[in-house]
Amino acid sequence: MPRPLTATIDIDAMRTNLAQARRCVPTARAWAVVKANAYGHGLANAMRAFADANGLALIEFDAAVRLREAGWQRPVLLLEGAFDAADLQAAARHNLALAVHCEDQVRMIELARPQQPLALHLKLNTGMNRLGFRPSQFRSVYERLQAVPHVASISFLTHFANADEEEGESRLPVSRQVELFRQATAGLAGETSVGNSAATLMQASVNGDWIRPGIMLYGGSPGAGTGAQFGLLPAMTLKSRIIAVQDIAAGEAVGYGSRFVAKEPTRIGVVACGYADGYPRSAPDGTPVLVDGQRARLAGRVSMDMLTVDLGPLPSAGLDSEVVLWGQGLAIDEVAQASGTIGYELMCALAQRVPVQVVDSMRSND
Ligand SMILES: *Cc1c(COP(=O)(O)O)cnc(C)c1O
Repeated sequence: MPRPLTATIDIDAMRTNLAQARRCVPTARAWAVVKANAYGHGLANAMRAFADANGLALIEFDAAVRLREAGWQRPVLLLEGAFDAADLQAAARHNLALAVHCEDQVRMIELARPQQPLALHLKLNTGMNRLGFRPSQFRSVYERLQAVPHVASISFLTHFANADEEEGESRLPVSRQVELFRQATAGLAGETSVGNSAATLMQASVNGDWIRPGIMLYGGSPGAGTGAQFGLLPAMTLKSRIIAVQDIAAGEAVGYGSRFVAKEPTRIGVVACGYADGYPRSAPDGTPVLVDGQRARLAGRVSMDMLTVDLGPLPSAGLDSEVVLWGQGLAIDEVAQASGTIGYELMCALAQRVPVQVVDSMRSND
């Protein structure tokens, strides 16, 4: 029998979540964001689930080419643009749209002689201060790119720092970023995209011609709370079983560092899942785990291949009981919040060694 740990990727859930994103901003077209191996869900799965998206957006050049090779014919957008001149040539060859965020990339485009024309997405820095041109530079960069004969189109984008927060609570509210974006792009011809998942779910009115949802497509919350609270379905369920049970006495400890010490006699279930599978080692005692569909509490430090749960309150659970680490029945956001991180990080960290099962009602036998 194989080790009982699997990640189930629910293509139907991803499809439903994309439809949900579209319902939030019905007038916009949707870039489905599939960077980081589709947030850990697998690029091929994402391509299938998001067949209805108007385009796919990501960071990794190789993955973008793989989308083309796998037959994706709609737009593909590289969100950090080209990293060198060879990238630029290949992007043109594979018809990959490029973000342009810095002077270096503008010069690269001016000097290039690509075989096919380029679709560019000029990025405005509206205060996040990672990528993009300042508002004062924006028009002159736009004019330079417009003058380049092998530039076919120029669109505009920016990225929000705090779209998941209430306006009043934010150092850099969405309204401020939107205002800067509107000023900088006023009168310029080009399509716009501004909204990530948080803006799509919580600030529908600020969105441009395109939305760029990521986390919500996978059922995760972009901020506080859980994806379910936004009507999203979990796309990744990480599931295992109890492979050993220890009866321990009051005062006995469990695992490395003897972090969990039993206050009373209890049973400890040992689960085949550890940090080498992507479960966060930072999870404290009490982090929720589902055992046979009932909530239990992590007890003891997560180790490389195993974690331990207190079965004291669940007398019927034991050897072979099914354990859901996150997903169906237990929001990844809850596990993340308990562990001091976000659902994004947990999804992306799903380890290579975890076998993946794909559920897709539109395709049988797979
Ligand atoms: C990752 C990313 C997104 C998606 O963000 P989510 O919070 O996952 O919705 C959108 N736009 C850009 C530029 C990104 O890098």
